[in-house]
Amino acid sequence: MNRRVSVPAGALVTEREQAPVSFVPTPSAPYRQHRKAASLMLEPGKPRIGLADQPPPEPVPLPYAFGARVLMWKQDPSVSEIGTRKAFLPGIVLAGPRDARIVYGEPGIAPVSPNAFGDFVTMPDTPQFDAVHTFAVVRQTLTMYQRALAGGDGETPLPWQWNSSIDTAPLEIFPHGLPNTMNAFYSRSQCCLKFGDFVPSGSAERVYTCRSFDIVSHEAGHAVLDGLKPDWLLADNPPQTGGLHEAFGDLTAIFLALSQLDQCEAIVAQTKARLHDKTFLADIAEQFGLALGRSNGLRNADNDITLSEAGTEVHAISQVFTGAIYDILADIFTHERDPALRDDAAVLHEVAGYLRGVLLRALIAAPDFGATYPDVVNEMLRIVGEDKRPAAYRNFIRNRFVAREVVASPLALTEDVPADARLAPGVRDAPGAVQDRRACCGTMNLAEYYGIDHVFDAEVQALAQWCAEHGRTGPAPSRDDEAAGGDRSAEDA
Ligand SMILES: [Zn+2]
Ligand SMILES: [Zn+2]
Repeated sequence: MNRRVSVPAGALVTEREQAPVSFVPTPSAPYRQHRKAASLMLEPGKPRIGLADQPPPEPVPLPYAFGARVLMWKQDPSVSEIGTRKAFLPGIVLAGPRDARIVYGEPGIAPVSPNAFGDFVTMPDTPQFDAVHTFAVVRQTLTMYQRALAGGDGETPLPWQWNSSIDTAPLEIFPHGLPNTMNAFYSRSQCCLKFGDFVPSGSAERVYTCRSFDIVSHEAGHAVLDGLKPDWLLADNPPQTGGLHEAFGDLTAIFLALSQLDQCEAIVAQTKARLHDKTFLADIAEQFGLALGRSNGLRNADNDITLSEAGTEVHAISQVFTGAIYDILADIFTHERDPALRDDAAVLHEVAGYLRGVLLRALIAAPDFGATYPDVVNEMLRIVGEDKRPAAYRNFIRNRFVAREVVASPLALTEDVPADARLAPGVRDAPGAVQDRRACCGTMNLAEYYGIDHVFDAEVQALAQWCAEHGRTGPAPSRDDEAAGGDRSAEDA
């Protein structure tokens, strides 16, 4: 008998404790034995006296249980204490996994079938686990933001960039889509997320970027925002517009972690409820950040960078925004905390949920072209006011963005923000400033967002002219390919 069958969690990783058989229900012999024993020993039997003459009450029919359990990485597997978690995805999840909005890409990892319980419970460190984990993180990201917008009239779908009344194509996921590549990106033209794997120099172990909770949620964040503001991703926008995209990716990773109750509890314990002690943020995903050539982890909230320090470097500019939002989260959390009344973790979960909704609504309300940080800050102030939240919330937003030189305040920071205030920009992009995206993630460096077609067109036209001038006229020998087609490699940018 293979006794491992019952407990996929951690079976391959020796230092992880073997979870008890009841932890992850699987259709296995040990689990059935456990259930039988439990029903004999733990479940009370039916009462034997009285009531015998009465008919039993009609059972209340349970709704058909859609949804699947998945086993996924709770955090990056590089953070050894955290390990796997099981999560419940409350929708219809088909083999792949796939659903109406997210689908496995082909060619890629062969579709994973659910087990007899309808669950996607597979062995960690296998392609099947990677497929399930990546799907689950993208699904949770989309659900999280759809919830933030959901009102009284039910679901609010967030479209992908290409979606229309006649094109409802899902986002494709390629967890192993970039073999031996230190990269991960969202591609609009291919309607997909692709994740690289590689062996870092000086290391024996292969790093799979799809196993990083932060990287997957960051890239999914790009896809969500691109569906709302298609122009923002293009490189000819002002640097702050690019900063909004990159910051939204990093903030998505933070908000997705904070949407999970156990993560909130862990963070409260780790920081003793002082969120301004940000060291834990730098700890997380550091290995992946370093492997992707970045100076720290993906969350980037652990900083005090101001706009004038950031210049035109989009990644640095994004850290200004990410850091300010994180500081506002910490301020609101401190303001709302009341340990005598409510558990800190519950307060953190709720505060983070509110703030991510404010951020998403403010981004939607910001201009479709060339949006800047002050645009978003002013929308946040308006939304928080309309939500009738405490005046302190608006003051936190103003004060943190003033400190980052994003906006200027005509009033002293100790006075309340007036109800209809629209704050003037602080430090602005220089006129005609061009984005420097070198330190950003793969999405921001993808050629398709740089208008490379125009570069190719110009080159092809120059070639045609040269040919005409040098007597190479007439039809080319049997070729009718599109002139501007072919390989779009980033080096040409
Ligand atoms: Zn970043
Ligand atoms: Zn990014």
